[in-house]
This record gives sequence, C-alpha cells and structure tokens, in this order.
Amino acid sequence: MIVVGAGFAGLSAANALVSAGREVLVLEARGRVGGRVASGVFADGVRFDTGGQFICDEMPEVMALVRRLGFSVLDTPMEGAFQIQPALASGEAGHGFAESGRIRARANRINPHDPSIAGLTVEAWLALQTDAPGAKAGYQAMVEGLWCRSISEIPLWYVIDNDRRTTSNGSELQYSVDGTMHAVAEALAASLGSRVRLGMPVTRIVRGNGFVTILADNGEAFRARQVIVAVPPVMASRIIHEPALPSDLAGALAVWKSGTVIKAFVEYERPFWRDDGKSGMVMWRDVLGLFACDVSNHRASALVVFAGGPLAVHWSGKGEDFIRSEMLRRLATALGSAAVTPTDFRMRNWIDDTWSGGGYSDVITDLCAYDAETIIRAGAPPVHFASSELSSSFPAYVEGAIVAGREAAARVLSNGPTD
Ligand SMILES: Cc1cc2nc3c(=O)[nH]c(=O)nc-3n(C[C@H](O)[C@H](O)[C@H](O)COP(=O)(O)OP(=O)(O)OC[C@H]3O[C@@H](n4cnc5c(N)ncnc54)[C@H](O)[C@@H]3O)c2cc1C
Repeated sequence: MIVVGAGFAGLSAANALVSAGREVLVLEARGRVGGRVASGVFADGVRFDTGGQFICDEMPEVMALVRRLGFSVLDTPMEGAFQIQPALASGEAGHGFAESGRIRARANRINPHDPSIAGLTVEAWLALQTDAPGAKAGYQAMVEGLWCRSISEIPLWYVIDNDRRTTSNGSELQYSVDGTMHAVAEALAASLGSRVRLGMPVTRIVRGNGFVTILADNGEAFRARQVIVAVPPVMASRIIHEPALPSDLAGALAVWKSGTVIKAFVEYERPFWRDDGKSGMVMWRDVLGLFACDVSNHRASALVVFAGGPLAVHWSGKGEDFIRSEMLRRLATALGSAAVTPTDFRMRNWIDDTWSGGGYSDVITDLCAYDAETIIRAGAPPVHFASSELSSSFPAYVEGAIVAGREAAARVLSNGPTD
C-alpha cells in the first residue's frame, strides 16, 4: 500500500493502515514531513509554527493525537480589548466578529443546493444583502481571510457547505501546541519509521494488472495494490495517470484553486500591548484579510499576523521588505510604537509553495461543481484521494486532514488487498 504525501492526511492514513496490519510506504516530495504544517526557529532558538498551528477543544481527533503523542497545549492569550483598525467613529456600523458573524450565520442557514443561490458568488450574494457597508466589509474580510481567495471567485454554496462542517462554537484559536504542531507531525511520522521516504515527488501513477505503479521524479518505481494520493486537489491534478482518470474525476480535480496566505511571527521582549489593556488581537478594515493575534507563552512574547486572499497576492508583489514594514507600521498604530522594534520577525509566504501552492486550503471556484468533493472522495479504486479539503469535518484544518486520512484508509480497507 502506498501513500503519496506526508502531511497530516497522509500520515494519519498510513498510521490507520499500519494499525490494521497493512504494509505501507509513504512517498513525500519535500525533505520534511508536515506539508502545510511547518516550522521556523527564532534567533533565540524558540521554534514556531509557520503553517497550521491553532486547535480547539471541539476538534476531537487532533486534540487526542496531540495528547497521545505526549504534547501539551498552551492557551492563546485572549484577555483585553479586541481592536478594529482604523478605529470606528462613534455610531459607525461595526466591522467586527459580531457583525460579520451575523451575516455568516444567515448564509449558513441557506441550503447550499437552494436554487435561489445557484450561480451566485459570495460577492454577488453579499451585494443583495441590506446590511451596513461596514458589516458587509467585515464579512468579506472574514471570508477572504479564511478561504484565502477573492469573494468574486468563491461560490456561495461552497462557502456554506464548507463552513457547515466547521462545527466549533468557540474560538478555533483556543490553543497552540507547546513545541509546535510541526513537532506533532514529526512524532507521527517517527511512529512510521522507515516507511516514510522523503524527497520523492510522485509524477505518474500507472494502473494495470491488479497493481498500481507509482513513479517518482528520480525514476524510482513502486508497486502496490492500492494508493492514497494524500495531497491537495490542485497538486493531485498535476500527477499524470495512465490510463487517464475517468473524465468526471479529472474534471473534479480541476475545479480548485490554491488559497493565498502569508503568515508572519513577530517576537518582542515582552507583550507590551497588555500594558494598555489590549489583547493583541487586531482586524484591519482599510485592507481586508489582515489579522493579528497574541501567541505569547512561557517560551516567547510574540504576535502572529496573517494576510489572506487578494491582499496576500497584492503584498507579495511588493516584496518582503514592504510586507515587513507595512505589518510593523500597522501593529504600531494599533498596539503602540514599541511594535516597530521586534527582537525577531519571520515571514512565511505560502503563495509560492511548490508542493501546496498556497494555504490554508484549496478552494472550489467553479460555480457549478457541487459534486466535485463527492467524486474525488469516491476516487478511481485502486487510486484513492485524501486531503483536508475533502474531510467530513473541519475541512481546511489539521483536524480535517486527520479525519480525511482516516476516511481514505477506511475506503482502502473495504476495497480489498493493499500490498
Ligand atoms: C499559513 C497556514 C496557517 C494555517 N493555520 C491553521 C491553523 O491554525 N489550524 C489548523 O487546523 N489548520 C491550519 N492551516 C491548515 C492546515 O495546515 C492544513 O489544512 C493541513 O495541514 C492540510 O493537511 P493535508 O495533509 O491535507 O495537506 P498537506 O499538509 O498539504 O500535505 C500534503 C503533502 O503532500 C506532499 N506532496 C504534494 N504533492 C506531492 C507529490 N506529487 N508527490 C509527493 N508528495 C507530494 C506535500 O509536500 C505535503 O507534504 C493552516 C495552513 C497554512 C498554510
């Protein structure tokens, strides 16, 4: 049995198969495991997550995994005032979580298959709503910050369908893993030992005579009864299949675009923003998709800053120096002048990431592709697919990747021999 990709989906699928007594080989393109969960190290040696990081109590699989592997979680500091920048004038209609949350809840009450929203992008639907402009801008910022594409591209039915599977009532920012989420991926991979092969980009999958032959770009070939392609849909669409995949499956893999996100970690000597009762949590309304929050813990005082969607693309074009100075300037306006002198600043631009093409997740941008996920989940046995995007719960999160990996492993086990 072969698994392509050592992100949380691939590692979880492989672990489930090993637990079921199957022989497994995981082929990973990068020189590391974790995929869209990755890490960096500050000059003072503190490790931080440059990709997936936050988890919460309502994500049962990832919480159980973290604990089973011996990690503990750290509360995300939330005390203090949440800020909207530039600050609202008195009486000005809000732009915050409450206002955008009301629009989000209204959207999520609509059946994704309701004919009245067929063909509508999020932008087109929002234009029909009677909310105050500030509230609409807040909802746009939320969608573009979370789905990381322009609301002019994303079908409303997709956001609703996707969001309905994100079932947390509290904050998804509740915890970080002490020692990084990336270390959890490494521990999960370590439990697979030599079954994980790094630096093995898979380029071609050939089906025939009851076997699947998987070819890596270095010319090595591997044979198995079944394969799980545990990579994001956009990356999966780039692997060549012989014979070609059924046209509905190839079509379903072609309707996705990678999200666009930049994540920055800004380390300070101390959490100076708390002196003024500020939480460090800031959302901007003059640029949409920009968000900061406090991730200080016993190891470091730090803020994390996300730029998502069109803003990430726009800022990427201006270069790293611009992004750094723009983020620090904005943090200083919101939190105080000390923000411009961090002890360290690290940035991870996911837009150009070779093996995911972006983050947090791929997004369906075809207004009519209602069946794409169902078709990909069904796959073309002996070729199966897994990635967080396809999960029945928390798609686009680490939780979703774990669930999607296990769901794919279950499909494999019910489909016959694997060796
Ligand atoms: C900046 C950022 C912040 C995020 N924040 C959070 C968060 O706070 N909380 C949360 O829960 N989630 C977060 N996410 C989302 C989360 O990280 C992802 O949903 C999850 O990690 C996806 O896992 P996956 O296994 O489905 O895909 P991936 O992690 O992308 O794994 C796929 C693997 O396949 C490999 N691969 C691709 N193509 C090939 C090929 N041809 N051959 C071999 N290998 C291949 C890739 O290298 C990769 O290792 C964030 C993501 C990003 C980018």
